Amino acid sequence: MDLTGLTIAKTHAGLKKKEFSILELCKTYLDNIRKKDREISAFLNVNEELTLAEAKKTDELISKEKEFPLLTGIPCAIKDNIMVEGLKCTAASKILKNYTAPYNATVIEKLKKENVIILGKTNLDEFAMGSSTENSAFGPTHNPHDVSRVPGGSSGGSAAAVAADFCAFSLGSDTGGSIRLPASYCGVVGLKPTYGAVSRYGLIAFASSLDQIGPFAKTVEDCKIVFNAIRGKDPLDSTSVESEIPNSKFQASNLRVGVPKEYFVKGIDPEIERTIKDAIKKYESLGVKIEEISLPHTKYALPCYYIIAPSEASANLARYDGIKYGISNVKSKTSNLLDVYQDTRGEGFGAEVRRRIMLGTFSLSSGYYDAYYLRAQKVRTQVIKDFEKVFQKVDAIFTPVSPVLPFKIGEKIEDPLSMYLVDVYTVSINLAGLPALSLPVGKVKGLPVGLQIIGRPFEEEKILEIGKLF
Ligand code: GLN
Repeated sequence: MDLTGLTIAKTHAGLKKKEFSILELCKTYLDNIRKKDREISAFLNVNEELTLAEAKKTDELISKEKEFPLLTGIPCAIKDNIMVEGLKCTAASKILKNYTAPYNATVIEKLKKENVIILGKTNLDEFAMGSSTENSAFGPTHNPHDVSRVPGGSSGGSAAAVAADFCAFSLGSDTGGSIRLPASYCGVVGLKPTYGAVSRYGLIAFASSLDQIGPFAKTVEDCKIVFNAIRGKDPLDSTSVESEIPNSKFQASNLRVGVPKEYFVKGIDPEIERTIKDAIKKYESLGVKIEEISLPHTKYALPCYYIIAPSEASANLARYDGIKYGISNVKSKTSNLLDVYQDTRGEGFGAEVRRRIMLGTFSLSSGYYDAYYLRAQKVRTQVIKDFEKVFQKVDAIFTPVSPVLPFKIGEKIEDPLSMYLVDVYTVSINLAGLPALSLPVGKVKGLPVGLQIIGRPFEEEKILEIGKLF
């Protein structure tokens, strides 16, 4: 039996029946990583010793138990912008290359309560800024379906790790698409929860009004298991809320799903369009009512996002000054404080991060604030209103995740605008704080294509159930 191919639910069943031990399970995963990650580079760090020790400990813990939580002993991987106490946390940046997390993120505390096994930390675009995982200071991750192509970003390492059977599930973060895009490109399931559904305490901040942590898994059911383990209010993150799980029971024939016409315009790969429309037809054949809807402010969402996200990033990244965190660059004895700031940041940040800091600082500067940042906030309100209006009529929305297939490594890296355009279908969801699932629904030229299922705030259960229908 190939243990690394199993879902969480099946692994749990196997552990309960004592068909294999957690130690055997972890050894199989570690073997797989050792053999295949040289080609893929999903991980920045793998903790073999720690994993084996934890596995043995957890085997002992459950040796006499008949019942234990679903995630006990399940091997997972964590994006390297989420703090795991005692492990390095680099955000794939040179500026944090020697930084060790002094505490656990709340999501990690929650997973550890269920005794998951953390195999290691996964690669990302530096500070989660990017769509391809090429902006990592430690080299790109490769798509397991075609290693000459990108896995999507910024949580490319986490998505690739699940797709390559390096772990049973992983965690990523999504500010403008960073869970959904790599899930789509790697052919796995990814959930971006509602803003506030999952605590962000211990997540290295990129854009605080947009960031959310969420799971990658092999099935919708597995995604749901992980989401339920990490959700809920946390006193350490004042933006988190305790949400009631709304009744998600429905009959397919009572379900109304909207398809926004603004998402099927010039620029989308015709074969992706066909694959998405075929998936929608399948839903229709199951009895789901499909209707065309309009989200008129869609075309403003991308420019709006690329003002708001860099503005917040420029403020959040001010803390990396060479004094408090990470590397410190003191070039000479006569360096003054400003020199240290400039030399550290100039050397520690990569090109994309510097670009975002400059864009954000510019948009927030006096004289330009009203024209850019304030205007973007007003546009954001219009984007939110578009969704509110549509959700009075429909239960969910279907769109593609990406207008293009996983592209070649190097293809877009010199052209930031073409890289930003990849996020055209995902950023509005973050602006509006909504939950959305990326579901693999087919392949084009051997490469996976994801359907995006967007839900009302806190209706994760419903979009997960809709995903399961497929
Ligand atoms: N690709 C988007 C960006 O570069 C989104 C990143 C993310 O969701 N972290 O900002």
